[in-house]
Amino acid sequence: AKGAGRNTLSFFDPEMQVRLQARARLEADLRQALPREEFHLHYQPQVTDSGEIRGVEALLRWQHPRRGAVSPGEFIPLAEENRLIVAIGAWVLESACRQLAAWAADPARRHLTLAVNVSPRQFREVDFVERVVAILDATRAPAERLKLEVTESLFLEERDEARAKMLRLRERGVRFSLDDFGTGYSSLSYIKRLPLDQLKIDQSFVRDLLVDEASAAIVASIIALARSLELEVIAEGVETEAQRDWLIAHECHAFQGYLFSRPLPLEELHLSKAC
Ligand code: C2E
Ligand code: CA
Ligand code: CA
Ligand code: CA
Repeated sequence: AKGAGRNTLSFFDPEMQVRLQARARLEADLRQALPREEFHLHYQPQVTDSGEIRGVEALLRWQHPRRGAVSPGEFIPLAEENRLIVAIGAWVLESACRQLAAWAADPARRHLTLAVNVSPRQFREVDFVERVVAILDATRAPAERLKLEVTESLFLEERDEARAKMLRLRERGVRFSLDDFGTGYSSLSYIKRLPLDQLKIDQSFVRDLLVDEASAAIVASIIALARSLELEVIAEGVETEAQRDWLIAHECHAFQGYLFSRPLPLEELHLSKAC
């Protein structure tokens, strides 16, 4: 800092310094997480009105030896920035597909779909399609039971490229869900042109459904949009019976949320029974 002029003082802001160092440490730890096998998956059931489990969403968990559980909300954005998400995402996909292949061999579970989150950065890799296909081949997972959750940000740029990739995976049987729907910027006319199977209503709207008329109106329009485009619709973040009942009354019949189950490690997941 010696010799630094007054103008650069903010650069040495001690608080900022501490934050940058903490971030650098987290990033260094994140680089080690894959080789040290600190990641695992949790699974959250997706259920229907009757409580039947149709599928599950795989959610990444990082158990750090000193930090304990680090939230994906904290490390996924970091992994996106430094491209680690590409390797991490491949690990998630492969682990999930291995699980899907195991379920396919079990008559009580072979009907289950497995939803996997794909980050925009991961999807934009030139060989994304080839990687997914290679993983499907290697694990022998049934492609028709794999549902990739993508977000609207994918379609801000390179729309045609994104669409072409989706079409190639669709040909192979893979299905697509548009995650966090309603929070992004997608033009509705473009949605129509994408090979989508499902819209996933963002949990922020579900949370405010019964307290905020605007949220209720948005959810009702998403459900209507899904119906007119002949897409499935699922609500995430369903925590109360009142929310579920409102959704059923408005013709949304698939749910995910703490009301039914938290994301759980495989051993705690009871998939054969209704929850
Ligand atoms: P998301 O894909 O929108 O996942 C839903 C999040 O909501 C999960 O948080 C889930 O645990 C939480 N959740 C489920 N039910 C409820 C509920 O009833 N109430 C509330 N308040 N929350 C609920 P989680 O597991 O912390 O993941 C956060 C985000 O991190 C995910 O949001 C997703 O964007 C990202 N993420 C998680 N796993 C992966 C992954 O394998 N790959 C990528 N690229 N992103 C992931
Ligand atoms: Ca998701
Ligand atoms: Ca979501
Ligand atoms: Ca989200």
